[in-house]
Amino acid sequence: MVRVVERSDVQRCLDGYRATGETIGFVPTMGALHEGHLSLIKAAKSQTDRVAVSIFVNPLQFNNPADFDKYPVQLEQDAKLLQDAGCDLLFTPTVQVMYPNEVTKSYDFGMLENTMEGEFRPGHFNGVAVVVKAFFDIVKPDFAFFGEKDYQQLSIIRQLVRQENIPVEIVACPTIREENGLALSSRNLRLTNEQRKAAACIYDTFKYASDHIKSMPVEALTKQCIDMINKVPGFEVEYFVIADERSLQPLRKIETGARAFVAVYAGEVRLIDNMALNI
Ligand code: AMP
Repeated sequence: MVRVVERSDVQRCLDGYRATGETIGFVPTMGALHEGHLSLIKAAKSQTDRVAVSIFVNPLQFNNPADFDKYPVQLEQDAKLLQDAGCDLLFTPTVQVMYPNEVTKSYDFGMLENTMEGEFRPGHFNGVAVVVKAFFDIVKPDFAFFGEKDYQQLSIIRQLVRQENIPVEIVACPTIREENGLALSSRNLRLTNEQRKAAACIYDTFKYASDHIKSMPVEALTKQCIDMINKVPGFEVEYFVIADERSLQPLRKIETGARAFVAVYAGEVRLIDNMALNI
């Protein structure tokens, strides 16, 4: 595995692969890698000839500075995992490399960005779009792999690719969970053992929603789900929305493509998750 920091080194390495007709798969991450990330790398390896991974904790997408400061960093451990996973190129740029000039770009993703994460984390998706566009310009991947764990982000990136006419195919990968249903996340490293166990309430609530979506009005079901999580000590729902998975707009009545989305505080740690409901 080649490990580089500069844009020119990424391009030189990948141009070498492209010169022999090889396809490039790209997996952008913020590091503190876990099995969720590794599943994306596995998918990339199975669909492309070469796999490039970036690790960059993108300051532009953190609306909360404390969250940025506490974001776990473990580069050496990550590099070892990537080497073992068969990654070809690891790109670990600095902020200066990613943003040599002041960033002024402001995207408009319409209704996709005004709900849920977009509503509660102002500026977040603009920061995500800026960094993903910058990475696509550098890496020029044939395929890029993203997790459904961050479903709204995935929708925004598909929209970014359409709006900006970027020649890349976006591949969505399913959410990897712990045995108790908790979605793997780098932020889980900040949970206590007790919080980690109690966080099973999120997936339990999704299953409850899926089991009851056909028999309960959406509004009553939503309220019930919020109560189920809020009654767990130390857990507080920021939003719980049953929405259409294409438009991301809240549903008033059930339709195919209904998906439950949640943001929950477990103590100080903010967790997000989503799941397709069984219509
Ligand atoms: P992050 O490092 O959190 O920015 O995530 C990098 C990529 O990994 C994103 O496309 C995430 O959606 C994806 N990802 C994070 N957690 C999971 C998970 N539990 N299962 C599948 N993909 C994930």
